[in-house]
Amino acid sequence: MNVHQVDRAELPGFAESLETRSAEEILRWAADRYAPGLTCATSLGIEDCVVIDMIARAGLPVDLFTLDTELLFPETYALWKQIEARYGVTIRAVRPEHTVAEQAAREGAELWLREPDRCCELRKMQPLARTLSSFDAWITAIRRDQTPERASAPVVGWDGRFGLVKINPLVRWTFDEVKAYAAAHDVPYNPLHDQGYPSIGCIPCTSQVKPGEDPRSGRWRGKEKTECGLHLRAPGQTQGS
Ligand code: SF4
Repeated sequence: MNVHQVDRAELPGFAESLETRSAEEILRWAADRYAPGLTCATSLGIEDCVVIDMIARAGLPVDLFTLDTELLFPETYALWKQIEARYGVTIRAVRPEHTVAEQAAREGAELWLREPDRCCELRKMQPLARTLSSFDAWITAIRRDQTPERASAPVVGWDGRFGLVKINPLVRWTFDEVKAYAAAHDVPYNPLHDQGYPSIGCIPCTSQVKPGEDPRSGRWRGKEKTECGLHLRAPGQTQGS
């Protein structure tokens, strides 16, 4: 729910002061400042599971949701239930306007093969925009070393694409640090991560990564696309502006 007047001019100062703080401290700050207008988007990747673990351990009042494209791996759906049971939380399903079958009837079969950007727009971006419009701030689990686009992501900044504050508590973390936290705290995570899938999305657009390959090369393999659009900046927006 929208409850706060957000002063965008304050955000660079927040980002600077939070840059060296721990992920737990950043999450606490975010909850103090923005709850109940605060939500967390989880794709149920290992980074997201770590963030949920931190939120649950601290008992922070944060809404949780995942974009259910209806094309996720069975292992992802099983993990979703496992996380809810383990932490006693509800992860809301945010779904597209149309089922996969309805989309095929309207746009043709397997839109992801022909127009993956359009498919992501319909199955991820539009549902995401609808749900974020009700909040003042959202938490994501992106890391700077995942893609060039994310390399300059601030701890906190203005998300011009969706029109709210974006908080990235793990932004300074490496994948090894994420795995170490998960192991130390016995955080449930997707078994596919241990089977050559460092980044897991929809079944049609996720493939195994060989040793030495870029961890995100298994997403939209063979296409120039590297992001579904959730974490791209708005046209003309500099990171954090
Ligand atoms: Fe469609 Fe692939 Fe995007 Fe999923 S990741 S919404 S299947 S294009």
